[in-house]
Amino acid sequence: MKTDFAQIVRPLLEWYGKNARTLPWREDPAPYRVWISEIMLQQTRVEAVLPYYERFLSALPSVGALAEAPEEQLLKLWEGLGYYSRVKNLQKAARMVVECWNGELPADAEELKKLPGVGDYTAGAIASIACGKPEPAVDGNVLRVCARLLASRENVGSPSVKRRCTELLRRVYPQGEEGAFTQAMMELGAMVCLPNGAPRCGECPLADLCAGRREGIAASLPVKTRNPARKIERKTVFLILCGERVALRKRPEGGLLGGLWEFPNVAGNLPAQCAERVLKKWEILPRTMEPTAEAKHVFTHLEWKMSGYTVSTGQTSPDFEWVPYDRLETSYAIPSAFKTFLNLLREHGGYVKI
Ligand code: SF4
Repeated sequence: MKTDFAQIVRPLLEWYGKNARTLPWREDPAPYRVWISEIMLQQTRVEAVLPYYERFLSALPSVGALAEAPEEQLLKLWEGLGYYSRVKNLQKAARMVVECWNGELPADAEELKKLPGVGDYTAGAIASIACGKPEPAVDGNVLRVCARLLASRENVGSPSVKRRCTELLRRVYPQGEEGAFTQAMMELGAMVCLPNGAPRCGECPLADLCAGRREGIAASLPVKTRNPARKIERKTVFLILCGERVALRKRPEGGLLGGLWEFPNVAGNLPAQCAERVLKKWEILPRTMEPTAEAKHVFTHLEWKMSGYTVSTGQTSPDFEWVPYDRLETSYAIPSAFKTFLNLLREHGGYVKI
């Protein structure tokens, strides 16, 4: 017999009451705070989010402050978290909330989904945790728990499976404990019913109710069809140094990492002769040119494989912004994709001087 979801509510809530981690967005689950936490937690671990969360909230404590923040401040607050479209959408949504709802996030999940960057999961999380609505928030963690509870071998990536889990959960939401139930499902997925074949069934409050455990197949669930392979892009990155300044340029708005700053780079892993030709095109006359260590950066559907050169030159080129080292990290948002190259500049406790 498959698990009856009505039976999971009490043991799950009891377990959550005793075992929930203390997290800042749980201590004060105001809609704005829950919203920011859920957006930060997309594709980022809780431990990594914590320092960013506190910093962001103290710099921009309200929807209104977020709506009015200058873009450079916003990108700086997000620097290191990656997936910058998240913070850009946050601001667009904040402006919409100010305009259409007087600065108060709506409590209804359907209304929340009208905001840029807010999908089913985030809307469910805000509506249930912050507003006490019986709205499930079903992400990969929750889908995994459901698939195991039901001993389901269906592909959890399919929209119909997600819809079914959402409906099963929606029917059993406990009145007055909606937020705790949403968070208890999330917490069980994060702390006990772990991915990659490692559920800790011995510690699980739902062990007696779980069909996956009973049938001995929990570790092999959920079934997922493979994602298509990531596209590889090769790049050559140039650290061009002139005196105590380094060349940067702004990435075009709208695309990947749009509007952020980067070290000049071109497609392909170029040998030195070709790299020199690129420099010539930029009207950079190198005094010295050394290859750097290689680096890679993985996005969701894309991987950059980067090689690079450190170049010293005596003259600047109008193609770039020439930034003094001491302003590089305080005033320019550089995506973490370039961190190997930024570290090169930082190494030995100061910036390399050539
Ligand atoms: Fe997951 Fe095991 Fe708990 Fe089932 S018993 S929900 S597989 S941890």
